[in-house]
Amino acid sequence: MTQETGGFAALGIHPAVLAAITAVGYEEPSPIQAQAIPVILAGHDMIGQAQTGTGKTAAFALPMLSRIDPARREPQLLILAPTRELALQVATAFETYASQLPGVGVVAVYGGAPMGPQLKALRQGAQILVATPGRLCDHLRRDEQLLSTVKHLVLDEADEMLKLGFMEDLEVIFAALPESRQTVLFSATLPHSIREIAEKHLHEPQHVKIAAKTQTVARIDQAHLMVHADQKTAAVLRLLEVEEFDALIAFVRTKQATLDLAGALEAKGYKAAALNGDIAQNQRERVIESLKDGRLDIVVATDVAARGIDVPRITHVFNVDMPYDPESYVHRIGRTGRAGRDGRALLLVTPRERRMLQVIERVTGQKVAEVHLPGAQQVLDARIRKLTAALQPLLAESESSHGELLDRLTAGLGCSPRALAAALLRKATNGQALTLSEVEREQPPVPSVSAPRERRERSDRSMERGVHRERRAPMPLPEGRVRCRAALGARDGIAAKNLLGAILNEGGLARDAIGRIQVRDSFSLIELPEDGLERLLGKLRDTRVAGKQLKLRRYRED
Ligand code: ADP
Ligand code: MG
Repeated sequence: MTQETGGFAALGIHPAVLAAITAVGYEEPSPIQAQAIPVILAGHDMIGQAQTGTGKTAAFALPMLSRIDPARREPQLLILAPTRELALQVATAFETYASQLPGVGVVAVYGGAPMGPQLKALRQGAQILVATPGRLCDHLRRDEQLLSTVKHLVLDEADEMLKLGFMEDLEVIFAALPESRQTVLFSATLPHSIREIAEKHLHEPQHVKIAAKTQTVARIDQAHLMVHADQKTAAVLRLLEVEEFDALIAFVRTKQATLDLAGALEAKGYKAAALNGDIAQNQRERVIESLKDGRLDIVVATDVAARGIDVPRITHVFNVDMPYDPESYVHRIGRTGRAGRDGRALLLVTPRERRMLQVIERVTGQKVAEVHLPGAQQVLDARIRKLTAALQPLLAESESSHGELLDRLTAGLGCSPRALAAALLRKATNGQALTLSEVEREQPPVPSVSAPRERRERSDRSMERGVHRERRAPMPLPEGRVRCRAALGARDGIAAKNLLGAILNEGGLARDAIGRIQVRDSFSLIELPEDGLERLLGKLRDTRVAGKQLKLRRYRED
């Protein structure tokens, strides 16, 4: 076991759970994990407050798994999550963390899928139940005793659950749970409604809060790029084409990610290496020495492994995975700009991590400007710039040393010096794409993340375009579907998936019953089944999304 996993071991979690997280490559507990795990293990009720992306799932999953009795084949732990997507994420995480615990099963219960298989899975003796409140209530109506054996309850993203209008369902669920149980509530924010729930349903809860302390940042040029999680490697490769760096350190969260990214970089010809907690001390020192003297240009590291690296050559820090807190962000980017040199720090942000970006900006008191991926033209320009820079110093000597050879080759090949130079270039650049069309082919566009903030800040002209679009003839509707209108649009900060989540969860529809969702500026259009529409609209009457009433009604285009 590495010394770093000791960070988890010292918290007292079950050895089999420890083995599972070692296998996924976590090196040390995140701050919320370090604080919450002992509290939950000790059996206390708890309120945990931390931003998205800080590792809350493991913060409750690891201690809860350590407290489960695999011998008892009945629901012992209930986790409530606001949406089907989040419930599935949590269930998958539990499966991973429980992979070395024989006899422990996980069942996910959510709307939009038939109830039968979910019930059957439950009856097969799973101890862990992950559910959205709406669907769990449906199950409770069929089986009141469903939750009678539950000993631990986790409310994940409690503020989101309330925003989605699950208050009443939560009350029904609380009433169906045994009084003597452990309750843990996680929330990014603690509005009045959450405090009320805590007061009513938690017993002497301990508060665990990851408070963001103000940080001072060295004068480093900072930027962020919005990107989908599965596009990170492509984005890093593209960025490296145009960034002029000397040495670079890239931060990721897991050992596996250090290996994957370093491998991808090496494959592209970069002098890159991975640095993680599994790498022996002497090897680690060799890597850092190589970075210092230029045998390596890029090191891909976890926070633990990068501790204490001080290499003046480092001009760039790439935060490929989000740091857990602003403190560690500041720590990471402090690796560049050493000894008064210029430094540049880049942060990749996935859509769900936007909040953390805002926290970092607030805590550091600095704006982290948004940048976009360079296009093919910029990549091409950068390649030609680099080629020019590489040739420049050779010009002076080459004609006297190789001039005669050149004459002999042109004569022998019967070609012009231009044709020969072109052939030599091709050979020297190893088939690298050096025309626009080639670069375009090689660099397919990385899907961009649409930022709601930007959408709101669009220029007047594009606003006009938006209006124009809204007047365009509507798409024909599929058989049996009608178009409905919700009184919420992009300017309310919602996206199609928020609407989808709310309708799936509260309307109890199957995913494929919902057709196209178009989010316009001030309203949205949703295709719903005509059959049972009135009942559905009734069910959704009080539904709120992003704190506002959905006000869903049939839309008549005339
Ligand atoms: P939250 O619920 O706070 O939004 P998650 O629990 O979804 O955050 O975790 C975010 C990501 O961080 C996940 O990909 C998870 O695997 C990873 N992660 C969590 N804890 C650790 C850790 N100790 N070391 C490395 N990665 C971690
Ligand atoms: Mg979470």
